[in-house]
Amino acid sequence: MSEKTIEFPSQITVRDLAQRMEASPIQVIKILMSNGVMANINQQVDFDTAAVVASELGFEAVLESVKETAPAEDPGKVPLWRELIDSEDKSKLINRPPVVTILGHVDHGKTTLLDAIRHANVASGEAGGITQHIGAYQVEHKGKVITFLDTPGHAAFSAMRARGAQGADIVILVVAADDGVMPQTREAIAHAKAARVPIIVALNKIDRADANPDFVKRQLSEQGLVPDEWDGNTIVVPVSAKQKKGLDDILEAVLLVSESLDIKANPHGKVFGTVIEAQVDKARGVIATLLVQNGTLQTGNTVIVGDTCGKIRAMYDFNGKTVKSAFPSTPIQVLGIGNVPPAGELFQVVPSEKEARLILAERAASKENGAETSTRTSLEKLFEKFQAGEVRELPLILKVDVQGSVEPIVNSLNELSQGEIKINVIHAETGNISESDVMLAAASRAILLGFNVSADQAARNLAEQEGISIRLYNIIYRMIEDIEKALKGMLEPETREIPVGTAQVRAVFKISKVGTIAGCRVLTGELRRNARIRLLREGETLFDGEISSLKHEKDDVKEVRQGFECGVSLKGYNDINEGDLLENYIIEKSA
Ligand code: GDP
Repeated sequence: MSEKTIEFPSQITVRDLAQRMEASPIQVIKILMSNGVMANINQQVDFDTAAVVASELGFEAVLESVKETAPAEDPGKVPLWRELIDSEDKSKLINRPPVVTILGHVDHGKTTLLDAIRHANVASGEAGGITQHIGAYQVEHKGKVITFLDTPGHAAFSAMRARGAQGADIVILVVAADDGVMPQTREAIAHAKAARVPIIVALNKIDRADANPDFVKRQLSEQGLVPDEWDGNTIVVPVSAKQKKGLDDILEAVLLVSESLDIKANPHGKVFGTVIEAQVDKARGVIATLLVQNGTLQTGNTVIVGDTCGKIRAMYDFNGKTVKSAFPSTPIQVLGIGNVPPAGELFQVVPSEKEARLILAERAASKENGAETSTRTSLEKLFEKFQAGEVRELPLILKVDVQGSVEPIVNSLNELSQGEIKINVIHAETGNISESDVMLAAASRAILLGFNVSADQAARNLAEQEGISIRLYNIIYRMIEDIEKALKGMLEPETREIPVGTAQVRAVFKISKVGTIAGCRVLTGELRRNARIRLLREGETLFDGEISSLKHEKDDVKEVRQGFECGVSLKGYNDINEGDLLENYIIEKSA
């Protein structure tokens, strides 16, 4: 029988499978059953299973090439430095070296690759062969310069992005050929995609006997990174960082990709850039590595960065050599900044120290007035933006308890996309919600959804700080319903807890008929009779409900302030011990 080829995605429902081959679903289900797979019409089967059915019906199945569709609109922030470059005189913009960052799963070889590229291509003679790490370095390939940010890891990348300062033009995604696509690989892809930064894949460890490049390429295709040799858009370069093989090919790929991008700056324009890293040195004061993104930074310049400023006393390149000026895309270590600025912060050169102080005073004042633009991301806010036509995409990050739930939930969420408004699941992974998920959400202005998972304390704190909404569910349809409601603008406002005060139980009185009364001292804020209250013992919440009576020296009162004693009884709860903590709070519907 002559076989016709037919394309399938990596997962397909039985219904679709039948439709594509113009077969009846019953026929497909029967074939599946005869191969030991019990599936109903709405169930999904993987590519291999679909291929078996196809072959029985006289088709040869091939994996559908995943289109690298760019989401309708950039959900992330436009980095401030890009906005600044946009305001430069276009005719003065010239090409600058591309800035590259390396991401990938732990142990896949990021550090080894960075070191290999550095050693093979950097003329380190001038500094007596001493290689110092300042967070970035530059190499030359075929007469062209490339800047590498050498603090591998997503934390640095996403911290920079969360501040709207993403500095990289290209991401090299390191994937070990013996290990394949792993959770952090997917996370890195999500980061790069959300930031609209093109990805080059370094298929590392090809020297290993158990390397399986084809398998990994297929995995990459499933993530939307289809290798160019398979007619996709992603350059996949086999390398061995350990044996220093394929390094030139990687650099070649970087130059190739950068040619298709708009990597420009005005070396004579306003001087600004991004902080790569900074720390305090006991002898020399604050040492910061800056990436110049426009203009030419010079010693003696006054820079302002975040809420600090300083006059640049000295500058060193990545070889430790003293330099007097630095062009766009140059990483430079500087001395002279007042306080340690956070990584990702934008720096700018200002004409004088007097001006710097003026700007800082203004910044401090506007911060006090709360004028700082909030980046709070709540479903309600996003919906307002939908209606105002500002965004047409709802970016979501999903964490679930088991792998088997990922695909069905993502599919159900995607099905909610309606017309102009698209659901964009940026990242879906198993595991609890961690700080790095919140970082990704902050950087992409996404909503974090959890299904049967929890968010650890560090993640909650960061979410609060960054204004990220975390929504946890343990019933799938509730989650889907919520998102649907958000899209339709019917969502109940999110609530948040506002603390009113805390009190400690100093003595316990058991009074028959009345129950247990806690003799307390108000530690912070006040206790309000009509606010909600919870009782904590060694950090564990034992009661969460209402106050049934609040007394101050025998009188019923509405509130008792900090420092005062009072008697509290809890509605329907008597198990109170000396030392227990009471937390009084109200629930507010957030705007
Ligand atoms: P990172 O966590 O991604 O920075 O990974 P590392 O660069 O620290 O590498 C992890 C381990 O993989 C180290 O033991 C390296 O020596 C090893 N490794 C890195 N690249 C290669 C390679 O190309 N081939 C082999 N066989 N091992 C490698």
